[in-house]
Amino acid sequence: MASQSLYRKWRSQTFDELIGQEHVVQTLRNAIIEERVAHAYLFTGPRGVGKTSMARLLAKAVNCTDPDPAARPCGRCFACTSIAEGRAVDVIEMDAASHTSVDDAREIIERVQFRPAEMRAKVYVIDEVHMLSTAAFNALLKTLEEPPDHAIFILATTEAHKIPATILSRCQRFTFTRHSVAATSSHLREIASAEGLELDAGAPEAIARAATGSMRDALGVLEQLASFGQGAITLEQVHSLLGMTAAAEVNALIEALLDVDVGAALRAVNGVADQGADIRQFTRDLVERLRSLMLFRATGDRGMLDVGEDELLTIEGWASRADTAALVEWIKLFSGLDFQLRTTPYGHL
Ligand SMILES: [Zn+2]
Repeated sequence: MASQSLYRKWRSQTFDELIGQEHVVQTLRNAIIEERVAHAYLFTGPRGVGKTSMARLLAKAVNCTDPDPAARPCGRCFACTSIAEGRAVDVIEMDAASHTSVDDAREIIERVQFRPAEMRAKVYVIDEVHMLSTAAFNALLKTLEEPPDHAIFILATTEAHKIPATILSRCQRFTFTRHSVAATSSHLREIASAEGLELDAGAPEAIARAATGSMRDALGVLEQLASFGQGAITLEQVHSLLGMTAAAEVNALIEALLDVDVGAALRAVNGVADQGADIRQFTRDLVERLRSLMLFRATGDRGMLDVGEDELLTIEGWASRADTAALVEWIKLFSGLDFQLRTTPYGHL
């Protein structure tokens, strides 16, 4: 899939490059330094948040030959480079979702008993581990009961509830969280500038919001936009690609509500209809924005908001004019609309 190539290209090669998941990085780093690496890890969390990137980093770190454990993975030694290029025979990556042949997966897991050929540790990375066949799962369980000294299993899944307790109890578990809009958009900016792509103001934030915390999705969108051709990537291009409502209309409606300006409110809603944008998506964006505003109004804490720098200023400006009780009313009103809009052909009315 072409849309994954930016993600592959910019996959982090060291712990420092990894975006987010600081709690996981910290714990794994300590384990490497103190040489207390477990035999089995379970990485859970939504797709595209860096589970397999982290698994590769860990595979590198346990095999890296840099004399300073704190500097592992160095990204330069034989182990680091061969793992990065996917040609390390001792690092076995399996996608359980596509490994349908029962015997195949079981055999691969049973081969863990053989010592590593080139490196210190033999590392198994099994993605979507909940999809393994029963036979393969049993082989895995048996191995985890008495793992050979040289073996490390890194299991990843988006559906932690499908992992049996017998496996869970033998793994050190880490929960991966979605990337914030701020982290995603700043990463998008870095990559765009390294790739010589120009992004208009607001475009990275719009992509980040649409990707709902998945860096892989965000980079996929960026790649599609880049293929459109010349010039800067505009907010309009982002919106038309993603079928999103213009953030400008959401902001205009909130302005109108704050000013109790009925005419301006109607113009904002009409603007959405004129663009042929999805009125339900507009309502959701509106509720999300009002929620941010209410949070900021109640706490005054910038850290509570998952928004880009430009929006932060807008929200700060609104907060001084907003009334908390009215905000709560509006959120109730507009979040109730989402259901009603599903059943009526007169949405914008
Ligand atoms: Zn290294």
